[in-house]
Amino acid sequence: MALAPPYDRPHPTRPMKPLILIVEDEPGIADTLQYALRTDGFEPAWVPSAAAALAAVAQREPALVILDVGLPDLNGFELFKQLRARIDVPVVFLTARGDEIDRVVGLELGADDYIAKPFSPRELVARVRNVLRRSARPAAPTAAATATAAAFEVDDGKRQIRFYGNALELSRYEFGLLRALVRRPGHVYTRDALLQLVWDDATESLDRTVDAHVKTVRAKLKAVAPMLEPIRTHRGVGYALAEDLPQRLPAG
Ligand code: CA
Repeated sequence: MALAPPYDRPHPTRPMKPLILIVEDEPGIADTLQYALRTDGFEPAWVPSAAAALAAVAQREPALVILDVGLPDLNGFELFKQLRARIDVPVVFLTARGDEIDRVVGLELGADDYIAKPFSPRELVARVRNVLRRSARPAAPTAAATATAAAFEVDDGKRQIRFYGNALELSRYEFGLLRALVRRPGHVYTRDALLQLVWDDATESLDRTVDAHVKTVRAKLKAVAPMLEPIRTHRGVGYALAEDLPQRLPAG
């Protein structure tokens, strides 16, 4: 059975449909999803493995990725990290039924939504619409997003972050840490979630690694804005980016 259709098949008659990449190793589920999405005006593309997903996004950037947690070649969370390191695409996880751990880990890592199997195709399409609506509206963001957008600029290509226009000199892990926080202002990341999201070397996986890097990132932010505390500690939980940063760097 041919699992994946040609990914870059042109759609000359319907070029404006949002491309939804489905990463799912079960053909039955993928078929159902593709049918529901196509019926609802999306352009679905299906890949059955993490490797194929990475190849696909390199070819054409999707509007959204539906990502099965249980993939044959790579854990869905690991693939999520690799995808997010490449493109800033919204992700909806498909998790096994009743798997609370998967649900929590997915959301902590910064997934935009999740849905448990078995799901109703109609509900999934509604979720996809919601996530796309949320992520495609930079013109009408929350106050938090406005302030954060004004304070931070992330350049993934150069792996650089500017804070009030000042380029920060960040190490690899400092960059990953701050990038995760900036992406979701107000979202409290546990240390464990940050370790999973940012650190890929298991030998460095100690909670205090996160704390140590938060400390150095804070010092670098403080050098730009001495009176601000952009990274908030949530005692006993983890860290979040402040939602109330001023749009402009305060004088003095
Ligand atoms: Ca699976």
